[in-house]
Amino acid sequence: MSEKGKELFEKVKQNIGRTQEKGTLEEQFAEIWKLACIMKSKNYDLRHKYDDSVKEFVEKYKDQLIEMRDDFLENIDYYVEKCIEMLKKNGFKVYYAKTNEEAHEIFMNELGDNKVIYKSKSNEARDIGILDFLSENNIQVKETDLGDVLVELFEYKLPSYQVGPGIHFAIEDIVAKIKEKYGVELEPNAKAIVEYYRDIYRKELLNDVKVSLTSANAISAEDGCIMLMENEGNISIITRATEKHIVLVGTTKIVPSVFDALLVTKMIERTNDSTVAYISLIYGPSGTADIGGVTVRGMYGAKDVVVILVDDWRTKAKESFYSDFLRCISCKTCSFVCTASRVFGNIYASKYGLGASAIIRDYIHNGIEAAVEDGLFLCTGCENCTNWCPVEVNIAEIMRSMKKEATEKGLCPPALKGYQQKILKDKNPFLKKS
Ligand code: SF4
Ligand code: SF4
Repeated sequence: MSEKGKELFEKVKQNIGRTQEKGTLEEQFAEIWKLACIMKSKNYDLRHKYDDSVKEFVEKYKDQLIEMRDDFLENIDYYVEKCIEMLKKNGFKVYYAKTNEEAHEIFMNELGDNKVIYKSKSNEARDIGILDFLSENNIQVKETDLGDVLVELFEYKLPSYQVGPGIHFAIEDIVAKIKEKYGVELEPNAKAIVEYYRDIYRKELLNDVKVSLTSANAISAEDGCIMLMENEGNISIITRATEKHIVLVGTTKIVPSVFDALLVTKMIERTNDSTVAYISLIYGPSGTADIGGVTVRGMYGAKDVVVILVDDWRTKAKESFYSDFLRCISCKTCSFVCTASRVFGNIYASKYGLGASAIIRDYIHNGIEAAVEDGLFLCTGCENCTNWCPVEVNIAEIMRSMKKEATEKGLCPPALKGYQQKILKDKNPFLKKS
């Protein structure tokens, strides 16, 4: 084992220790997350709001989804080009950024003199690294998703559940924190907290938004439109009640048609068992032709809608061992069913989120040592992730390849190394003789 391997092994051990120590943030999250995953898995098989279970829904549309993702990946250049052409036709301002750094530069130019942006939850923003970049450039990013607002309230720095980032905060702790920070005393119940934030944020969002930032659940190449799904209404408000709406998104969010976009969005909704109040289709900036038939952009909605399509690692990934990952639709199913994620919560994670898909992203951006530090070797190889993925991304195989690379670089933990040697020597890791 290399010196670096020893250092990373110690870090992971310390992280595991924190998940077992009463009262640590890691322990609190791991407990809640385990319950959330179990509840999600139960709901997969319960007749809930629909006639079919989630598993039945996935089985029904899986082949269609896989065929669509494969078609996109085989013809990625065509679809990117088509998407840019159609978005432009619909009045979007469109950029194609080869790298994250290029995307940052474009974003800053579009931001102009504005020093505040309003943002909805976006994993793509993390992947593209825009949040760190904006904070380094003293741009204030105001979260609008309530879960993220709570994460800010607690100044919680660890990765949390992307779909419900505030799920692990206890109601009593939230009201205590609001009192401590804002001097406001609230009844310790969810309704009171929601009304408190509704009152503040609705006024602010309806009056103040100059620039908003979102990602997209999917972008249709043939129709030139973006699709966004939400429950709170924050995305609807910040994409309409703003001067400029910037959509920052990886090219892998492109799908051939608007029907495919809806299928992807619906699949994310069902596999997350989330309540969706709104699905928005945005076809460009608002406008009117009511005055003499002259089209003027920007009536009540955004005057400008800017789409920054980012490639960064995606084209290169086609030739790599993780090319399968390009099919990912970011549904997060692989986290809920993951044995390691259930046990280790947010220490089996990276700055890109929870679970294996976030660790793979860290590997892509920051290399194998980062992945080992995220807990790569905590993966049990159970293959639940692969078996449940609605687009058959072989996450378990990607994790295996990463473990192989880590082992070749001397980063494999000692216990596993011993296990490997025992297999090589005795052909059976359970024999006592060696
Ligand atoms: S790898 Fe599959 S299960 Fe995991 S987030 Fe992507 S699409 Fe969903
Ligand atoms: S193979 Fe690894 S990443 Fe996949 S579900 Fe099992 S423990 Fe999680």
